[in-house]
Amino acid sequence: MVRDSANGSAAEQASSAEPERAAELRHLLNRAAHAYYVLDAPVMEDAVYDRLYRELLELESAHPELLSLDSPSQRVGGRPAAGFSSVRHRISLLSLDNAFSMAELEAWYGRLLKVLDRTPAPEQPAPALAMVCELKIDGNALALSYERGVLVRAATRGDGEQGEEITANVRTIASVPLRLALQDPPAWVEVRGEALIPDATFAAINAERQARGEALFANPRNACAGTLRQLDPKVVAARQLDFFAYTLHLPPDWTAVGDDPAAPSSQWQTLQWLAAIGFRVNPMATLCPDLPAVETFFADWQERRKGLDYATDGVVVKLDDLRLQDEAGFTQKAPRWAIALKYAAEEAPSRLLRLVMQVGRTGVVTPVAEFEPVPLAGTSVSRATLHNADRLAELDLHGGDTIVVRKAGEIIPEVVRVLTELRPATAERLQLPEDCPECGSRLVREEGEAATRCVNSSCPAILRGSLRHWVSKGAMDVDGLGSKLIELLVDRGLVRRIPDLYRLDGALLASLDRLGEKSAANLLAALQASRAQPWHRQLYGLGIHHVGEVSAKALAKAFASAAQLATAAVKTPETITAIHGIGGEIAQSLQQWFSTVANQELVSDLERLGFALANAPADPTASGEPSSDHLSGQSFVLTGTLPSLSRSQAQALIEAAGGKVSGSVSKKTSYVVAGAEAGSKLTKAESLGVAVLDEAALRLLLKTD
Ligand code: NAD
Repeated sequence: MVRDSANGSAAEQASSAEPERAAELRHLLNRAAHAYYVLDAPVMEDAVYDRLYRELLELESAHPELLSLDSPSQRVGGRPAAGFSSVRHRISLLSLDNAFSMAELEAWYGRLLKVLDRTPAPEQPAPALAMVCELKIDGNALALSYERGVLVRAATRGDGEQGEEITANVRTIASVPLRLALQDPPAWVEVRGEALIPDATFAAINAERQARGEALFANPRNACAGTLRQLDPKVVAARQLDFFAYTLHLPPDWTAVGDDPAAPSSQWQTLQWLAAIGFRVNPMATLCPDLPAVETFFADWQERRKGLDYATDGVVVKLDDLRLQDEAGFTQKAPRWAIALKYAAEEAPSRLLRLVMQVGRTGVVTPVAEFEPVPLAGTSVSRATLHNADRLAELDLHGGDTIVVRKAGEIIPEVVRVLTELRPATAERLQLPEDCPECGSRLVREEGEAATRCVNSSCPAILRGSLRHWVSKGAMDVDGLGSKLIELLVDRGLVRRIPDLYRLDGALLASLDRLGEKSAANLLAALQASRAQPWHRQLYGLGIHHVGEVSAKALAKAFASAAQLATAAVKTPETITAIHGIGGEIAQSLQQWFSTVANQELVSDLERLGFALANAPADPTASGEPSSDHLSGQSFVLTGTLPSLSRSQAQALIEAAGGKVSGSVSKKTSYVVAGAEAGSKLTKAESLGVAVLDEAALRLLLKTD
């Protein structure tokens, strides 16, 4: 595990930090478990608890000397709550070990084979053992004791050895039989299963509590635990709990008589047996012949479970054969023959490694948290933006903090909060710097703005960002000029402004790291070709604050050239805000931009380099009507890579001249324009006798060269 903090070095901290971290984790987890099990009011998310617990287990297994008696790893659940008498279970009620990935499930299976002495020889496949998959219902385990077929006692799991006696409450649960459907019941029967509150009931309980101004239950499991501990059974009855049975203990010498079902010899038979004597058994349980079938069950229920009317957080996998279960036995806390395979969490804790500052092309400085990678919602996450100084202050982030990170579905990861209890004693508060981390100039935060900016227009970070933007797909669409090369060109001082790109020397380019003569030549050709991009793309490429692709199109349509737009921006901004979809923010930004001398020089320089910065035949969308339509009625198909024009450029040029571009070749196609590595479209054109053009021939046809 990486132990680097924002300021410290990994090696120095490793040895002394571990006992301290273990003590902190024990303290935090014990407090959380008390809140969860005893008070039914959790103080952290389950997934966060699980990962911190896992971290403690890893520390304890790597350093057994850190294991102490007060560790939560040494006990099951919580102590019985006051208000109920405590009962000792006839047979202890343990917890389950967890697996959070298929690899962990396979490792569990490997360990199981080992205790059962069935580890395969090298190169041999692992033997298949039948397993029962049951949904892991997020409720509360109950132990029901029957004597001569009659329910005499019901208890919570408690610490696994002793639980709270809640018989009167459990009697109100309709799916718990008060008498077993057996003709000749054994002296005693112990049944275990899960009490639960359906989602709809949970919502109703919380609504009532809210109306009475009481604290809300965090989830159905806590609501269920709270209900089972109600002192008034009438309240319990009103809440309509449900119960699914899954475990059975019978006297070893019992044999069925008459029509009574024979004692089961597998978990699968146990479920049938429980159903036969009057219990509700979860109907989703499935007997799986091997591990791949377990994995399929788990994958199947990943989404389906969300349609159930009760909460589930995983799948409990149990070895089917009871004789083998017996052979595998238990660890101190859990059976070796079962595992809870949990669905991926959307929240988890991690440790902040460092806070980095990113300076964007508009000069905005964004703090980004880099933390130890955590698996979240199916991917590994190690970075999250903190947006701005306000968010940073709100989180009160310190170096080395343990943070809670969330990523729900496809959503971008975010830091939700900080677990301040785990903050290192010497940690320092993290803030945005006063000076730009890239160029050292003083950062500015204007009143009413959330963003902090570097306003030095020659800041290398801003230059890199604006170059990346200029060559991006929606702007000049220059192939072969990626972030690495831009960084190199800026670092070597070869490019200080956008126009410098167009004055690069081929030989010099070719001599740069990783760039050969051919790539250099291709890049120069792509840059030259980019001059033919339409005016609205050039405008977008300038990277004026708030001017996105859509607004650039609207502006270029209304103002045929940079000169016209500049005059309007400075002198008649109302003509800009009159455009549909363009507001005051954009008008103001354009005014500022065109009033800045450096920007005026940039425009003139681009014009000197041959950029029209105006509507031209190459820009049909901007001017509305194409200025020439001599290709009207002709259809073109593009295939392969043209030497200098990109697909979108060639298409724009053809359309500007009135032609149509289509995706497939037919007899009606007028021309196929083919470049390098043209594929089946070229073959088809030849077979249909359609005219084939290269780029030079296309340019002649377009008459733009
Ligand atoms: P567990 O909930 O992970 O698994 C064991 C339990 O699963 C059993 O006791 C049983 O009640 C239940 N279960 C559901 N369906 C089952 C089935 N078909 N077969 C067998 N058992 C089934 O373990 P736990 O020891 O009860 O509790 C640990 C969990 O409690 C942790 O995973 C954690 O998320 C949560 N917890 C949270 C906090 C917190 O602060 N949020 C604190 C303590 C514990």
